[in-house]
Amino acid sequence: MTGESATSTGGNEALAGRWQGALMDNYGLPRLPLVRGEGARFWDADGRVYLDFLGGVAANSLGTAHPAVVEAVSRQVASLGHVSNHFIAEPTVRLAERLLDLFGGRPGRVFFCNSGAEANEAAFKLARLTGRPHVVSTEGAFHGRTMGALALTGQPGKRAAFEPMPAGVTYVPFGDVEALRAAVTTDTAAVVLEPIQGENGVVVPPQGYLTAAREITAATGTLLILDEIQTGIGRTGHWLAAMAEGVQADVVTLAKGLGGGLPIGATVAFGAAAELFGPGSHGSTFGGNPVSCAAALAVLDTIEAEELLGHVQRQGDKLRKGITEIGHPLVDHVRGSGLLIGIVLTEPLSAQVQQAAQDAGFLVNAAVPGAVRLAPPLVVGDAETDALLAALPGVLDEVYRAAHAEPAGQ
Ligand SMILES: *Cc1c(COP(=O)(O)O)cnc(C)c1O
Repeated sequence: MTGESATSTGGNEALAGRWQGALMDNYGLPRLPLVRGEGARFWDADGRVYLDFLGGVAANSLGTAHPAVVEAVSRQVASLGHVSNHFIAEPTVRLAERLLDLFGGRPGRVFFCNSGAEANEAAFKLARLTGRPHVVSTEGAFHGRTMGALALTGQPGKRAAFEPMPAGVTYVPFGDVEALRAAVTTDTAAVVLEPIQGENGVVVPPQGYLTAAREITAATGTLLILDEIQTGIGRTGHWLAAMAEGVQADVVTLAKGLGGGLPIGATVAFGAAAELFGPGSHGSTFGGNPVSCAAALAVLDTIEAEELLGHVQRQGDKLRKGITEIGHPLVDHVRGSGLLIGIVLTEPLSAQVQQAAQDAGFLVNAAVPGAVRLAPPLVVGDAETDALLAALPGVLDEVYRAAHAEPAGQ
């Protein structure tokens, strides 16, 4: 390969080949090279355009290249890009104050990091500092890939190759109040829950589950840690999904949508839990860096200024209703909240739906074989949701016909 061709962008095939030559294979080959984005649109390296119903996995809250994020990040990196935790940067302080305020103004403190897994690592370490040995998580949960976050992840297949895990974690069926009650004792440091299990295919627990979890943990002095990494920051049409039920956790973890595409994670603790870390307990070189914090502040300002929480509820209702009304034999039902939507299939064909949707110009996600996930940018508009609803019958038909076709030659 010449020096010139090795550094040029190339088309889809060339970029995929370069990826395979230089990147570790932990993701397999990603589905598509993308070279540019704008709002809820992406362009691939062959120049094809896609409507984005995945949002960088619920991370691009304002889509790609939103002017508010571009402006905030550009201004910040041009004036104060990184200071480390030896120094104070004002945007970091402002973001912590802002989050505490948005989450109800209870006394609390924030630890900033760079990802969801790190936010959960910090929460796990807080739990250990209670002095209690036991942590309860749920089956099917996803809390991240680092060792502590992985130990909290209720998917044995993801953990198996990396045993032994940090000890003391048990798993109960998600959504089962009595199983949770039976598992939690005064030896339980924390219960860790997602308000909706996103990676597990947008699994919504029964109404009242979080309220019951709050009561159960309060009775034993156990921390309630809510992983709102996927559900938080407007994704369900509320600042936090738990706020819809009026549930106040001891610890909330955030990442994904908070940075509007820039890497940031946050562990927000309230009351006594906020005082567990002391000097030396934990840290991160880049955590709370002013550039990511400026992006997050722009995201929060824009959600507020453009009244996106109501918009998310309306677009989410429209999508769920519209997909249900297609009445397709491949769709069992549609679940989720706001713009975190799971299309539950009657057959495990989500990978085929993902591919057919992509061929039709829509990026969706085969979260699990039996369910397709939608998590578009919160700014997704009628033009895009109408286009998806118009295209879906054809996409579903194509997958259904291919799956039920007579084998060739018969
Ligand atoms: C994505 C996700 C994580 C992990 O976040 P990373 O930034 O990939 O480390 C943890 N918990 C939930 C609920 C998530 O959706």
